[in-house]
Amino acid sequence: MRMGIMGGTLDPVHNGHIAVARAVCEACGLDGVMLLPAGDPPHKQHRADKADRWAMAQLAAGALDWMSASDLEIVRSGTTYTVDTLEQLCADRPGVEWVYIIGADTVNVLETWRRFERVAGLCAFAAVGRPGFEAGRAHEHAAQLARAFGAKIHFLDVDGPAISSTEVRNRVAENRSIAGMVPQAVEAYIREKGLYLCGMTWAEIDRELAATLRPARYRHSIGVAETAMRLAPRYGVDPQRARLAGLLHDCAKSMDEAEMRRIVKANVPDADVLELAAGQVLHAPAGMVVARQKYGVRDPEILSAIRKHTLGGADMTPFEALIYVSDVIEPNRAMYAGLSRARELAGIDLRAAARYCAQMTKDYVEKSGHGTFHPRTAEMLRS
Ligand code: ATP
Ligand code: MG
Repeated sequence: MRMGIMGGTLDPVHNGHIAVARAVCEACGLDGVMLLPAGDPPHKQHRADKADRWAMAQLAAGALDWMSASDLEIVRSGTTYTVDTLEQLCADRPGVEWVYIIGADTVNVLETWRRFERVAGLCAFAAVGRPGFEAGRAHEHAAQLARAFGAKIHFLDVDGPAISSTEVRNRVAENRSIAGMVPQAVEAYIREKGLYLCGMTWAEIDRELAATLRPARYRHSIGVAETAMRLAPRYGVDPQRARLAGLLHDCAKSMDEAEMRRIVKANVPDADVLELAAGQVLHAPAGMVVARQKYGVRDPEILSAIRKHTLGGADMTPFEALIYVSDVIEPNRAMYAGLSRARELAGIDLRAAARYCAQMTKDYVEKSGHGTFHPRTAEMLRS
């Protein structure tokens, strides 16, 4: 029996992996291919937790009768090495011949694998070309590995498609479609769990916010995220993107005012005088800068929602309005006149709720004499 292994961080598994596996399976007459997501590999930082990468591998394999998924590396603790995996596979399933499937980019780094000389004794390699990687160099390199380690590297005369996990992650972060790049079930999983929306995992974001915000501010941020998530489907907004904007809307709140002013001046060329004037307003454009620079947010609408969450604006998209309103109505807010009505409106008519919140701000500014009622908020009352 001959089995293929498609290993890698698979962060996420994509249609390129599947196309390459299928091509090798057919060309080499394999009995099947096993997806093998790496646990904590030594060479590569991964972006989704291993539980998620494992779940996606299972979804991809589940749809194909010739493909299976193995959690051998996922369940192993500490840094995982292919050599340990192959030792285990060969011991557990004697009589199986293992063919490790790789792209040209991997051929060029094979000798960096731990105990590669042993790896080369435990499996053969089937390599395919990969757009962006020079095939000639990979062939030459394979010949060197054969001489130095006795590696058996068989090149197929095909190129994998121009898809990479990096490109999939980038597109998700920019809110562009990944349809056709990953299996449908994987696409749905990524959307449902909100994977790859920024440069950190949800757990990393949580740790960072807990460490930088005061406890009440942290609780408020979670309240805004949950409120925005709950209302999102009603207004055609993606709940996980709403969650991220809600969590990060106040991410600059702990900075001192001079620092906020400095980063806004340096990074937000169209910030106006009133926006720059007081800390209460300044933390919104500053938050946009921090979300981009520290949390790796690249989705323009998430960034603009963070920027607009204090002042609002007449031209807000439903997404922006949702964050603006959620900030006012989240459950940790102390009760005050008008809050119940704002909460009620939020469930019925988002624009009316946003206007109502703007009116409350106007009343507050006029009564308290604090600050200036910003023309951008005033515009909302006229829209
Ligand atoms: P990343 O962009 O995160 O590096 P990736 O798309 O390269 O992700 P990996 O999990 O790193 O995916 O790749 C696992 C294996 O699949 C590697 O050997 C890689 O060369 C191969 N591979 C992935 N995509 C392709 C492709 N489109 N064509 C050929 N080989 C591919
Ligand atoms: Mg790669």
